[in-house]
Amino acid sequence: MTEDLEGGCACAAVRYRLISRPMFVHCCHCRDCQWQTGSAFILNALIETDRVSVLSGKPEPTAVPTDSGRPHHIYRCPSCKVAVWSVYGGAHKLLFVRVGTLDDAVALTPDVNIYVRSKLPWVMLPEGIPSFDAYYDARKLWPPASLERRREIFG
Ligand SMILES: [Zn+2]
Ligand SMILES: [Zn+2]
Repeated sequence: MTEDLEGGCACAAVRYRLISRPMFVHCCHCRDCQWQTGSAFILNALIETDRVSVLSGKPEPTAVPTDSGRPHHIYRCPSCKVAVWSVYGGAHKLLFVRVGTLDDAVALTPDVNIYVRSKLPWVMLPEGIPSFDAYYDARKLWPPASLERRREIFG
């Protein structure tokens, strides 16, 4: 990676920098993501919290309901309320950064499509990217270097 990826909210009060590439990028078609974005799917870059440098502002967590009953907090800009990332299951060492908030959103492409069972029918999935009806087994799909990074935060 030659250049750090930066992003932020719509009003620019929140600015952040990814200090390395994410471990993996999800394109999630689940109903929760559809509700929370008001759109067809979400793009999440999974990266260690300590590799996201907050340059300005302080994203604030909001708890949202989940199918699983496990906690999900969406972090939003306190001013414009744009969501910049999520923490799932109270795992605060891992952020799901919303790719659409990057200045250069085209820089990260999905590594997997998940919860395709609720994909909107007009969304066409590209060939060559694995897709799953529900969740998937990261151990079988993530590159070894990313699995090693994940082990470092979760043991
Ligand atoms: Zn803002
Ligand atoms: Zn989802």
